[in-house]
Amino acid sequence: MASPRSKPSQKPNVACIVDEVAHLDVGQIMVSTGFKQFDPSVIPQYGYGRLDNVVTGLEFERMLSSTGPTDGKILIDGEAPRAVAILHCVGSRDENFNRYCSRVCCMYALKFAHLVRERTNAEVYQFYIDMRAFGKGYEEFYSRILDEGTTMVRGKVAEVMAAPDGSPGKLLVKAEDSLLGVRREVPVDLVILCPAMVPSDGSQELRQLLHLSQSGDGFLLERHPKLDPVGTASDGIYIAGCAQGPKDIPDTVAQASAAASKMLGWMARGEMTIDPIKAEVQEERCGGCRVCHALCPYNAISWVEDEKVARVEEALCKGCGVCVAACPASAIVGSGFTDQQIYAEISGLLAV
Ligand code: SF4
Ligand code: SF4
Repeated sequence: MASPRSKPSQKPNVACIVDEVAHLDVGQIMVSTGFKQFDPSVIPQYGYGRLDNVVTGLEFERMLSSTGPTDGKILIDGEAPRAVAILHCVGSRDENFNRYCSRVCCMYALKFAHLVRERTNAEVYQFYIDMRAFGKGYEEFYSRILDEGTTMVRGKVAEVMAAPDGSPGKLLVKAEDSLLGVRREVPVDLVILCPAMVPSDGSQELRQLLHLSQSGDGFLLERHPKLDPVGTASDGIYIAGCAQGPKDIPDTVAQASAAASKMLGWMARGEMTIDPIKAEVQEERCGGCRVCHALCPYNAISWVEDEKVARVEEALCKGCGVCVAACPASAIVGSGFTDQQIYAEISGLLAV
């Protein structure tokens, strides 16, 4: 086939972009580091990288592009395919790789089915676990794809292999059809994989640099999943798009707009309010061991060399209490939560 992997576009680049390192003094940051595509070659039974004509969704997008290697034509060895298989959830919703749903694959798989039918009239087989057409107009689009004659097979593909001699296709897709309760072997000319979205390269380093948290899936953790999905535990740092987790373009645009609005809101106000729960070093008790300095997850404690004491930067402190518990000299207290204040409160309650 005219593989989008093996044959890059012959068309010249119009513009030349040169990287530049800029040092900027900023008060707020929006992290939108995007995603990376899961490498489907780690699932050998799908044949990616081993069999010709097994491509990823991004590679197929390249073939569809008018600036791509086939000028937008869907061609396998110079000819239109007679049958195409599209495999959902490659590395998503899979206990062995990523348990989460990548959220965009169902819909772009349906788009591929439409374009294949429109441009080649080939048979299209979609192998899916569950169809997730959740967005506005998505369910209607799904119905339209069914009307166009795409065959939906509910079941995970067991194997993609080279077709045996005499087969009508170049590849053979073996799967279980869990709705009909039968095993299927479907000959096709092209297999399109829909790989999972995973955190982008370098996002871990950036996360550590900015003292952000991550959720179990490796993406950045929002301050609150419902009430503050664009904020982070670090004031002034926001997240948008796939840095937070897989999402489609409308959701990314909405989240980025919300984050930008929040940032502009702070700028318009001209001042920030900070949480009153803070740690405070009682400097006369500080023994200078610097345990707190090393442990603070928000880099809120500085070491004052001249005075040989630790000091908390109020604007950075999140009141997590790590330093309060760790200080061997008991020199750090929660502001407003000294032992004396807590005892006084207990005494007051007991006296009632
Ligand atoms: Fe001072 Fe306590 Fe920090 Fe050690 S842990 S540097 S004693 S405040
Ligand atoms: Fe750092 Fe938490 Fe101590 Fe604040 S309470 S200075 S965030 S360790």
